[in-house]
Amino acid sequence: MRKLLIESLMRAPLTEPAPEPADHAVAELAASLERAARRRLGRSLAIREVDAGSCNGCELEIHALNNAFYDLERFGIRFVASPRHADVLLVTGPVTANMREALERTYAATPDPKWVVAVGDCAFDGGLFAGSYAVVGGVAKVVPVDLHIRGCPPSPADLLRGLLALLEPHGSPAKR
Ligand code: SF4
Repeated sequence: MRKLLIESLMRAPLTEPAPEPADHAVAELAASLERAARRRLGRSLAIREVDAGSCNGCELEIHALNNAFYDLERFGIRFVASPRHADVLLVTGPVTANMREALERTYAATPDPKWVVAVGDCAFDGGLFAGSYAVVGGVAKVVPVDLHIRGCPPSPADLLRGLLALLEPHGSPAKR
């Protein structure tokens, strides 16, 4: 124990290297997204994440948007705790039989106009889990989907590009 303590005192601090230039590109994308949200909504974008049965790989990339590297809340993009406060439902995973009703109820609780974004190959068509007895299929089998962001999993930059595409002038909120 003493050896361990002495070693930890002698060792240089462990720090992460500064973000690569590619991460600056992500920050620029996020800033564009914030400007587009202000133009379309008059405020920042509120996102409710819904895991409908994913392996959590997609969640890791979505969580990365809020980590110390990407820190996207500085651009006003917020993840909210309730669908009642959300503009966008970001849905991951194949929809499992157990999560089907929860997804339907979350969709119903989200005020119009709203967007549904299906994230990852599983959310597109069930991906690796397609055909399983426990899986209903892609998100579009349960609720209307406005945009698919493909990938297994999609990167933070892919997620931002997708959200930006939603907010650009030709993308209109679903009126349901
Ligand atoms: S798309 Fe890939 S990372 Fe995302 S839930 Fe499916 S298997 Fe996991």
